[in-house]
Amino acid sequence: MKNKTEGIYIGEESQEYKLKFSEIAESNLDINKPTVLLHSCCGPCSTAVVERLAPNYHVTVFFYNPNIMDREEYYRRRDDQLKFLEIFNHEHKNEYFVDYLEGEYTPDTFVSLATDLKDEPEGGLRCSICFKLRLDKTAVIAKSLDKDLFATTLTISPHKNYQLISAIGNGISQNLGIKYLDENFKKKGGFQRSIELSKKYDLYRQTYCGCDYSKINDEGK
Ligand code: SF4
Repeated sequence: MKNKTEGIYIGEESQEYKLKFSEIAESNLDINKPTVLLHSCCGPCSTAVVERLAPNYHVTVFFYNPNIMDREEYYRRRDDQLKFLEIFNHEHKNEYFVDYLEGEYTPDTFVSLATDLKDEPEGGLRCSICFKLRLDKTAVIAKSLDKDLFATTLTISPHKNYQLISAIGNGISQNLGIKYLDENFKKKGGFQRSIELSKKYDLYRQTYCGCDYSKINDEGK
């Protein structure tokens, strides 16, 4: 069964996930922890961010990436996102629970915004629009779900401009009135830790950022 709620895709995977972890979720309810909707670009980048945030926040990972134009690639990354969370939740079942939501996969939304910018260098205007698209949706969903904050794993990558992402996140925060968790996750060895954890969990690490325009062999974007 599939249905859509305000931009959230509630497919079988999301439903199975919630059923599978309902006991762990209930036993880890700590009302004193703030709630954060964490946009995630992929399983590998989420590893070290989730590990860092989970002790102090109720984290819900929000997989929303219409920029991944190749469907097969999208589902490959999505499945490894789930694979990581499932193992992580079992490993930490007596400490905390990380929830999961998937955004609606609409690559046409991204293409309509980015196609005129396909020749932009990586890190240019196309990427700013791409970051904004994903963070806007995350903030809107976070607000509609009454989360305390929204955040993104994007800043863990050494290929991504932290200052730019921070400015976008804080701008959205001001417009929508929901707090942005402004952290440069690559600091304190975050990126290196994500590589270690990706190996530990045997996750697929893509060789390009996400859109077809970025299909160049740059390791780990
Ligand atoms: S290179 Fe990455 S961040 Fe830039 S537009 Fe493509 S998918 Fe988005």
